[in-house]
Amino acid sequence: MKNQRRAFQAAGVALLSAISSAEGHDLNASGTCAPLNLPIAQVTAPPTQYIDFCRLNPGHCNMTGPTILYWTAPVRQTVDRVNRAVNSEVVFVPDPEWQGEEEVWSYPVNGRGDCEDFALEKRRRLVEFGLPRASMTMAIAHHKAKLSSHAVLLLETTGGTLVLDNMSDEIGCWGRVQLNYESRERPDGRWSRFDQSYWNFEPATIAGMRGHSCRATAEVERRGTARKITAHAQQQLFAGIQAEASRASLVGAPEGSLNGLLTAIATWLSFNLGLPAIYENPQVRFLPQEEIAAMHLANLAPERWNYTAADGSRDKVVSAYSTLSRTILLQDTWIGKNPAELSILVHEMVHHLQTVGGRKYECAATREKAAYEAQALALAQFGRTLKEEFGIDEMTLLARTTCSP
Ligand SMILES: [Zn+2]
Repeated sequence: MKNQRRAFQAAGVALLSAISSAEGHDLNASGTCAPLNLPIAQVTAPPTQYIDFCRLNPGHCNMTGPTILYWTAPVRQTVDRVNRAVNSEVVFVPDPEWQGEEEVWSYPVNGRGDCEDFALEKRRRLVEFGLPRASMTMAIAHHKAKLSSHAVLLLETTGGTLVLDNMSDEIGCWGRVQLNYESRERPDGRWSRFDQSYWNFEPATIAGMRGHSCRATAEVERRGTARKITAHAQQQLFAGIQAEASRASLVGAPEGSLNGLLTAIATWLSFNLGLPAIYENPQVRFLPQEEIAAMHLANLAPERWNYTAADGSRDKVVSAYSTLSRTILLQDTWIGKNPAELSILVHEMVHHLQTVGGRKYECAATREKAAYEAQALALAQFGRTLKEEFGIDEMTLLARTTCSP
């Protein structure tokens, strides 16, 4: 490691001279990449994890030197080499598994780190090569398809704003990678928070994918905090559900045909209700309504089905979830093509996420609270209500979602 570092430093001297004599060699390796120019909502203090990092590593956050890097062939080669080296040398491990604490920003420890650790390590090495720190800023982003938060290093260059990402060995252009930008370090040491109404998602591509770009899954799974998203993003996420639901033959199709829809719902729920974004989809079984009702009456053990009645009077049970076999039961007429049917699946998916997330509830009724909340929110996307679709009024809802003394 020491030898390697020395070799880097030796190369750094050569590189510095290359930078200063680079006129006439201006290369734009990434085609046309513009400088990142997203609307800024707010200029704020750095994230607390970054402040901690800066305190522990004095001088390593001093944004000295030119703020724009001259994008020459030697610079590009060095950046490329460092990007690849760090990506291959450091083993990706989400923070909580080895730091014993969530969200620690540090250099990789014993060759392990997560996304911001990769980014910080790349900057440290590039500074050793003589590149100005002020041109290399940390950024927090959100992956458009994996729907998980992420951190990358941004290089402000004469070839545009470039992205160094632990998920890619290619140097990306900020606008062409799959990221929504949340905030970014500024050369003055403060951070810009971007206007999130520009965020967009690609939920159609997420089917079957586990969000693993960074610690994000851990973040969502462990904390389960609902993210505040704009109405526009909300629409896009729900459009992902509708797109999946509108696909032909969801019913009676081979196993797994519902996975896209289930994943889209899980994602939507994790954003709106802070439920864990765990993409371990449940089994789905279809039975005639009479059979579901009969099972309900017989109260079949040991599956411990949790039944959902579709009307206010409780006598028409249309779906159920088993915490034991992690199975959703739907009636065999369900085709997922109308708001009521979709909302029923949303309801049961809440119970599934509560189960796989290991959530504890005071009583069965408190589990129902989140399920009905989500169901009502799904109906609201179509301008419908629980009352209109299922005859479930405020009083019925209160009775179903409050623990009895
Ligand atoms: Zn329920």
